[in-house]
Amino acid sequence: MRWDGQALQATTPDALPGLAKISNLIRSVQTPEFAGVTFHEVAAKSALNRVPAGGPVPFAWTINPYRGCSHACVYCFARPSHAYLDLDAGKDFDSQVIVKVNVAEALRRDLAKPSWAAEHVALGTNTDPYQRAEGRYRLMPGVIAALAEANTPFSILTKGTLLRRDLPVLTEAARSVDVQLAMSIAIFDDSLQSTMEPGTPTTAARLATVGAAVSAGFQVSVFMMPILPFLTDGEDHLDAALGMIKAAGATGVTYSSLHLRPGVKEWFARWLNTYRPDLTPRYRTLYGDGAYAPKEYRGHLASIIKPLIAAHGLDIAPTDPGTGSAVAVASKPSSHRASARDSNGEWRDKGRSMSAAQLTSAASTLF
Ligand code: SF4
Repeated sequence: MRWDGQALQATTPDALPGLAKISNLIRSVQTPEFAGVTFHEVAAKSALNRVPAGGPVPFAWTINPYRGCSHACVYCFARPSHAYLDLDAGKDFDSQVIVKVNVAEALRRDLAKPSWAAEHVALGTNTDPYQRAEGRYRLMPGVIAALAEANTPFSILTKGTLLRRDLPVLTEAARSVDVQLAMSIAIFDDSLQSTMEPGTPTTAARLATVGAAVSAGFQVSVFMMPILPFLTDGEDHLDAALGMIKAAGATGVTYSSLHLRPGVKEWFARWLNTYRPDLTPRYRTLYGDGAYAPKEYRGHLASIIKPLIAAHGLDIAPTDPGTGSAVAVASKPSSHRASARDSNGEWRDKGRSMSAAQLTSAASTLF
């Protein structure tokens, strides 16, 4: 076991109430290297997740080596997914991380099935595969190798600079399958980034990772998601951001304004009231009744950013006029990699979808 030889505190499977639901929990681990974070190591039965049919994304399968994410982005779309273990979408999402320690082995079993048709597989669609824990668990090299050996094309979306570690194995994989890489960089203000995305590598480090991937021969797109009203949507900020993205060597940009679904909205409201209470009334106007910024705001944002993207010579992914989200495109070039989220800004999972009444009810109590 990778954590052997370190000072560990292993706990029993019932350390947290919801963890009793995990029949395949191996142990729960804390280490000084990751202060405040508990890793719950599980043995996954399978690695491939089927995406419900009919969605806007151009792939049918995903892999998530981790659930929960120590990158701790305040606006993270995936926060509500943690509720399945009776863990909360706030601090628990950041600090109680499920680790599928055998994900590569489970994946090889999945890929060996005669029914596997080598469809595109997306990584980073729910939680980040290159979050800090990956530096110790090193799950991704095995995942990448397994996909390549099974002639299975794949894409990776991440905020993690650990991607750079795996460029050699990704380069090797790209000799036999299509490999698409995308870096998520939404905030180009270091002070704001440090409170809004406290567990992530800096923007400069992520841009440098884009450059390293480009130097390794990959086309890399940047996800500017979410763009935060009144915080990162100014023309000067966007212009400077796109200039840095272009200078790093990226070929395309995908953008979307902020979505605030229940489970995310509460966490975001707490941040807003702590750091920028002056903006609370303006956010109440935009998001008081729902999860999306109004169509008028999205149109305003598009009128600013689209000319800037073109002026910087970057490609752009199309967006859904109903939500402002990037939508799927059929073409394969990585510069047009589509949104990994659904039109609600979250991974498509019919079992977790909420009714309009639920959305309105939850939303109306905030800000
Ligand atoms: S890196 Fe992605 S998955 Fe992780 S907290 Fe941030 S938005 Fe969520």
